[in-house]
Amino acid sequence: MANGLKRTPGFFDFIIIGAGVIGSATACYLKKALPESRILLIDRYHTAGAGNTAKSAALFRNFFSSRTNRLLAGSSIKYYLEPGTKVQLDPTGYLWLFSKEQWNASRTAIHELDPEKNKFEILDRDRIADILGINYQAKGHFPDVNSGIFCHLCGSLSATALARHYASLFKSMGGEINFNTDIKEFIITGQNSCYAPWDNVFIDGIVDQKGNTYNAKEFIVATGAWTHDLLAPIGIASGILPKKRQLFALKIENNAGLLADSTSTIRPAIILPAGGVYIKPVFDKNIIIVGCADDLGQPFLMSDPEPDPLYFQRAIEPVLNHYFPELDFILSLKWAGYYDYHWPDMTPVIESVANLTWVGGTSGSGIMKADAIGRIAAARMQGHKEALLADGSKFRVSRLSLQDRDVEKEELII
Ligand SMILES: Cc1cc2nc3c(=O)[nH]c(=O)nc-3n(C[C@H](O)[C@H](O)[C@H](O)COP(=O)(O)OP(=O)(O)OC[C@H]3O[C@@H](n4cnc5c(N)ncnc54)[C@H](O)[C@@H]3O)c2cc1C
Repeated sequence: MANGLKRTPGFFDFIIIGAGVIGSATACYLKKALPESRILLIDRYHTAGAGNTAKSAALFRNFFSSRTNRLLAGSSIKYYLEPGTKVQLDPTGYLWLFSKEQWNASRTAIHELDPEKNKFEILDRDRIADILGINYQAKGHFPDVNSGIFCHLCGSLSATALARHYASLFKSMGGEINFNTDIKEFIITGQNSCYAPWDNVFIDGIVDQKGNTYNAKEFIVATGAWTHDLLAPIGIASGILPKKRQLFALKIENNAGLLADSTSTIRPAIILPAGGVYIKPVFDKNIIIVGCADDLGQPFLMSDPEPDPLYFQRAIEPVLNHYFPELDFILSLKWAGYYDYHWPDMTPVIESVANLTWVGGTSGSGIMKADAIGRIAAARMQGHKEALLADGSKFRVSRLSLQDRDVEKEELII
């Protein structure tokens, strides 16, 4: 090409940028529906799921107040139960603890949910004590433990195994994958010749770090937390912004408090009533992974990617010390990643401008909703009005768009 760019042979029907769990699931369902189409999945990393998918705590839950979130997560979990061990699915359950004040605020939303259908139980303090040896008294910044929800259809899986599961299914159906390919630029038809708004403006191609260009009829951007940085320069307000989140792996010397007693077989993930601190136990390795939902003060930016031990000391350690005073732990590993947030409803987005569609805004729950999001994005790319989810339910694809958005506010936020 005249400007020094090298055109990659061939022309694709679809190019998907981003082989995280969302891009890989989308590629898989699109190829499954359109086996004759030429589809290319691209990522800057060397393998699928190496971005924020790999940074995730990979917990899943079906317990949401919003019907949309329940459908997205519930149907995805139904699918994950099928490949089960391949994605290292561990249905440990979730124990969500509430202070008296939090319970009063959430009670109405919780009572609207059917415990049998949604597979959860409401626990009082005595029932909580059967599962945990927690200090339930309030002190200073730390509220009491008053009530709990035990969600049975919750647990954890391997997020990278899940992304690779979709990417390898995609490949086995004839999908093409280019790893180590970092997309730097979009080629917009007419841009250099000063186009007018009524011209037919569309994305003609994309350019990688080596100057290779790739051309397709349709482009799908599934770049998670990088979506804003990629699309804002070409005039697209995706509605998706990055925010740093950190996880800390603690080596534990004993199980004090995390189990009712050492023989207990109930070993759920735990959400504490203070500071959005949550615990993912990995008891067979004597490890717990702890995270925290901080908001004010944490910028919507690709800020410093390093985890901060001071943050652990200030935001997490005091919470653990209060609720589990007997627990001995040593900080052994820490890492940080980014949520790709869609404010204000924290529900995913699938929207298009010309021949470019973006899929993201998973807002910290992309692993548990990836199957449904992939199916809905693939349905949208085929021009379908509805997507068929893994539990047999139908989902109107425009509900996740920005223009015809139809989602409910989530009341049960960690
Ligand atoms: C600390 C932490 C804990 C979390 N815990 C949970 C949890 O318990 N449960 C849950 O469901 N979710 C959790 N999440 C959220 C979950 O990780 C995300 O929702 C999910 O990974 C989003 O998937 P994705 O495919 O959109 O993004 P990613 O996995 O980040 O994939 C985007 C891909 O795009 C690629 N890319 C970006 N820009 C370019 C470019 N220009 N060219 C080429 N490739 C590009 C990247 O390399 C990346 O692989 C957590 C996230 C974090 C950070």
